[in-house]
Amino acid sequence: MSKDISECRICFDIETNDDKFISPCRCKGTSKYVHKSCLNSWRNFNRESIAWTTCMECGTKYKIKYKYPIEKKKIFKGCCNNVTGNYLLKYSVCLVVSGFIWNVDYHNDYLAVKMLNFFQPSTSYDLLYYVKQNDLCPQLFYFSYTMFLQSIIYHLYFVAKCYYNVKRKSYYIYKIKDTFCGSLIFSTQFLVLYYIFAFNGFVLLYLNLITFLSMVEPIGYYKLIKKHNKIIIEMNENNIEEILPYHNIIDNIIDNNNNMLELENIIID
Ligand SMILES: [Zn+2]
Ligand SMILES: [Zn+2]
Repeated sequence: MSKDISECRICFDIETNDDKFISPCRCKGTSKYVHKSCLNSWRNFNRESIAWTTCMECGTKYKIKYKYPIEKKKIFKGCCNNVTGNYLLKYSVCLVVSGFIWNVDYHNDYLAVKMLNFFQPSTSYDLLYYVKQNDLCPQLFYFSYTMFLQSIIYHLYFVAKCYYNVKRKSYYIYKIKDTFCGSLIFSTQFLVLYYIFAFNGFVLLYLNLITFLSMVEPIGYYKLIKKHNKIIIEMNENNIEEILPYHNIIDNIIDNNNNMLELENIIID
């Protein structure tokens, strides 16, 4: 059938200069041509199904050229993606590690506490006094201390993961920076509040505040991961794409090899 008298397989209209035909798959005859706009509308309508990438009639995977590289989905897996998982992971690590740090610090004459004070006593009832005297205070302190260290490690892990996996970095940083800085600043409150309160004698107030921070910290990190996932989905959905015509030469390759050849999407930087 000549292309000139063909009609679109979706709207049955003819080709116009404003709305060009494309032959995107192995379909022939009356199904060979389709308006680019009709095909894209159909695909958008079926975004969540296989019809997004594949012709439902002949099973050909569309050859798609993207303006930007496709971003990898779900680079953070498992516990990171839900609040309960975040709490379970961080609290179980913290319960074990904080006891260990407490023990090591005890045998090193409270080096960690003294380092916070730059080895100088601030007041006669400073943090060191409470950590030595009271059973609950060291528990609260070392738990929060471990949560703080863990949170910093998780933020470094986040940066490393994104650095190696996200392709459009400058756009991604522009989108994530506020949430990331907020989450990181929240994590560093363990230190900031120390120099505001504990260093000036309000040790019990400080311990209460950092305990509260430790209780809500996993929510902050969860929100960061959630924001990351949302940005990645947006970046992929807003990527400019173009379906390329299906060439006969590909048909020949399939026939010659006599097996299924799955076309990979072409990604152009
Ligand atoms: Zn059409
Ligand atoms: Zn087809």
